[in-house]
Amino acid sequence: MKLNELSHKNAPVIKISPPGPKSKEYIDYQIAKEGASVSYPKGLPMAIQSGKGATIEDVDGNVYIDFFAGAGVMAVGHSNPIVIESVLQQLKDFTHALDFPNPAKRSLVETLFTILPSPIEKVFFGGPTGSDAVETAIKLAKFNTGRFPILAFEGGYHGMTAGALSVTSDCGHKNNLMPMLPEVHFVPFPYCYRCAFGKEVKTCELQCAKYFEHVLEDPHSGVTKPSCVIIEAIQGEGGTIVPPDGFLQKIREVCDRYGIIMIVDEIQSGFCRTGKMFSFEHYEIVPDIIVLSKALGGIGLPISGIAYKANLDNWQPGTHIGTYRGNTVAYAAGSAAIRFMVENKLARHSEQMGNIMLSMFKDLESNSEIIGEVRGKGLMIGIEIVSDKAQKTPSAALAKQIRTVCHQNGLLVEIGGHYGNVVRFLPPLVITENLLKKGAQIFLDAVRKIEINR
Ligand code: PLP
Repeated sequence: MKLNELSHKNAPVIKISPPGPKSKEYIDYQIAKEGASVSYPKGLPMAIQSGKGATIEDVDGNVYIDFFAGAGVMAVGHSNPIVIESVLQQLKDFTHALDFPNPAKRSLVETLFTILPSPIEKVFFGGPTGSDAVETAIKLAKFNTGRFPILAFEGGYHGMTAGALSVTSDCGHKNNLMPMLPEVHFVPFPYCYRCAFGKEVKTCELQCAKYFEHVLEDPHSGVTKPSCVIIEAIQGEGGTIVPPDGFLQKIREVCDRYGIIMIVDEIQSGFCRTGKMFSFEHYEIVPDIIVLSKALGGIGLPISGIAYKANLDNWQPGTHIGTYRGNTVAYAAGSAAIRFMVENKLARHSEQMGNIMLSMFKDLESNSEIIGEVRGKGLMIGIEIVSDKAQKTPSAALAKQIRTVCHQNGLLVEIGGHYGNVVRFLPPLVITENLLKKGAQIFLDAVRKIEINR
């Protein structure tokens, strides 16, 4: 199957300025009937009719280039026909198996072991969401060490259930909900554009890795020996933050030295997203526990799990359970999707497409007065929007304007970051060069338009 057969070739097509009347009607109904916690349509007001590859059609007939991919879920593209075929067959055969063995699960496990690094010898599927897999990983680490404290990173996002939220740094999500899990301590991630230590990356000698080591080494750091550290090798929601080479290696080395379990959350950055199958591969380390979800469900079917070293596998039957740990349809989607990624060399494609996009944006840091930094790996790219470049003043308002102008011109983008000012691109990995360039140009035009009008 050729990648250019998957998406609407003529995208974008804007028939009516979004939100069109049908979208408005859906949104009004949603506001009337669904809970006030609904959030995405506040930034991207639209109702979705269908998706195809790297494109999405709304209920008014507008077709968008999708640089969002359901928050990074749709690696192999919306409605990927190969995955759908596998899903339809499984739907007819058998749909719910708790954790009994079954052919769909067997196939996914076998497929996963073709892509996981060899010291990882076990997988376990818990509940359907990424947050649940994070809970599972923390539980396994505590079970193994008998210790309670956890080290997590500023800018880290790990989900919304109580344990996962506890290790998530965004105070906005937690302010009204404290207390969370006790004994979670946050340390700085190498967010080099806004270094917590005021250093420059060329001369810092990885100050944040040294600080991490200090917390463990100094008997007066106030942190008793942790069970685990949880980290995204490349941070997603925190603003697409790529650590400098050496940082992850140092964290790995320090964890080994102090006997601390290293959990790497690959929920967003995994499955070819960053140009490698898993983002930790850029740093040539192997975690003790890898957390998986999002693209694992192929076309957005809910599934999550952990993959880990066999020496940790000494928990008891039933230590982590749940009704939906056996979604056979999602297993079928997952194995078809991973095979599709490997056969279509999506890691390499992602790297190439990412490089094209970065080269289109390379002058922005010097030419644009509102772009502070462009960064990323593969098809995980973030652009820091600022109102004052010299002061690096973050501007969530300008980032929102960019998202709106992009939406009106047929491009869907996401916003994240510590200050809500990072425009984030996570397109389906099957995006063609043609659509990628069109989407990137829509973004560039939006930036220029906003610069002129501000
Ligand atoms: N971890 C990371 C890195 C994520 O990006 C997310 C979701 O965006 C999660 C965990 C939580 O996954 P879920 O929303 O499926 O619970």
